[in-house]
Amino acid sequence: MKGIPMSAGAQGNEELIKRARRVTAAEVYDIGTRFPAVYTEADGSWMTDVEGNRCLDVTAASGALLLGNRNPHVVGAINRYIAEHGVVFASTLSLPRIELAERLCEWFPAGEKAVFTKTGSEATTTAIRLARAASGKDLIVTSGYHGWHDWHTGFLTMGYDAGTRTVTFGYNETALERLLTEFADRIAGVIVTPEPAWFGADYYQRLSALCAKHGVLFIIDEVITSFRYGQHGLNGTGGVPADIITMSKGLANGHAIAAILGKAEVMDCYDAAGIAGTYTREVPPMAAALAVLDVLADGSALANARKQGTTLMNGMRDILDAVGIPAFVGGPPMMFDVVVPSEALSWDLYRAAFDYGAYFEDSGTHMVTTSFTDSDTDHALTAFEKGARKVAATTNFEPGGLSVDRKAEFAAEAFGGNPVDSAEVLAKIDTMVRRIAAGTQA
Ligand SMILES: *Cc1c(COP(=O)(O)O)cnc(C)c1O
Repeated sequence: MKGIPMSAGAQGNEELIKRARRVTAAEVYDIGTRFPAVYTEADGSWMTDVEGNRCLDVTAASGALLLGNRNPHVVGAINRYIAEHGVVFASTLSLPRIELAERLCEWFPAGEKAVFTKTGSEATTTAIRLARAASGKDLIVTSGYHGWHDWHTGFLTMGYDAGTRTVTFGYNETALERLLTEFADRIAGVIVTPEPAWFGADYYQRLSALCAKHGVLFIIDEVITSFRYGQHGLNGTGGVPADIITMSKGLANGHAIAAILGKAEVMDCYDAAGIAGTYTREVPPMAAALAVLDVLADGSALANARKQGTTLMNGMRDILDAVGIPAFVGGPPMMFDVVVPSEALSWDLYRAAFDYGAYFEDSGTHMVTTSFTDSDTDHALTAFEKGARKVAATTNFEPGGLSVDRKAEFAAEAFGGNPVDSAEVLAKIDTMVRRIAAGTQA
């Protein structure tokens, strides 16, 4: 028996990354956009690499974690389920599945019924299949990232894609209003990922009301916001009505599960939509999700995370100000954005902070977990400050705040945001409307 590698023996980070390059690992996704470490364990907010270096995780593992690693309630629940009950049964139904559906439907206003998949990409794909089946219509109108599946790989480009029958409206209200006015009888649903650093709850309430007025299903992709926007997502905490919501990241604190919640009449189209999935029956992640909901129930864990996130966000703003780097810092405390003058500078800042023991997302969206303590947040700020001072010492900046153009460029590049009615955007709207009317790509 060769066994499972728990420690690397003599091999260090560099050697292991070379070994990974030979057999696995995409050059950009796994290597170019990550900092050079191979981790062997994590506890709470801290990770330890093969060389024994400890590093604070300020990415929440891309949002997969909500309570930090090895939360005792979650570990206890999932271990106990596997040891005493099993992992999958012949039937897709189980007690945890029924209980989880009931609790999520109580937790989120959009929920009358729930179904489950493994990932966020599958959840949003399920949602649009349900919308098409329930409405008997075909066009999907979308803004923001919903995963990597074929139907919306062009999510950064405003316009109509005849191949996937999707229209990307770039978070532009003029565009959405025009699309709904002209094509409501062809639009199956509108699906939007909340970008709460950029648009307030009132913005999403207007989108939701516009869809309702035109009789079009409104879907909120809450894969990341379901607990990070507030205790009950944009749907509950933000008071934004929806026909369907999707969630995944953090739901089972790192275990793979996603949920699609919605109106009964929409969810009842599951069979007609031809949806399936072997692992919709995997029970232990559902047990883990129930443990997560138990931990979150009294609100104190998320209140701590919001407090830590607020301290971190304000601290990072003050540090950037003190070292003279123009920046926009904003958003909900559990998922805020830091925009600096360029993507390259953003990378340099966080790469430098990594050398002082804090792993930030280089794109500038930061996420804490409920496991953060005051001293963790202090550590993150100290590492960020040391890194920022080092970078600022060798770079020149234009005086004044971050330019409006840079903010707009970030929004366009990060999530396809084109909310301002410039002449160029209005021309794009005209073109997409013409193409849809003609039913062609040209
Ligand atoms: C991450 C994410 C997805 C995709 O989820 P995966 O689990 O990576 O497939 C979809 N929508 C949003 C809003 C996300 O943040």
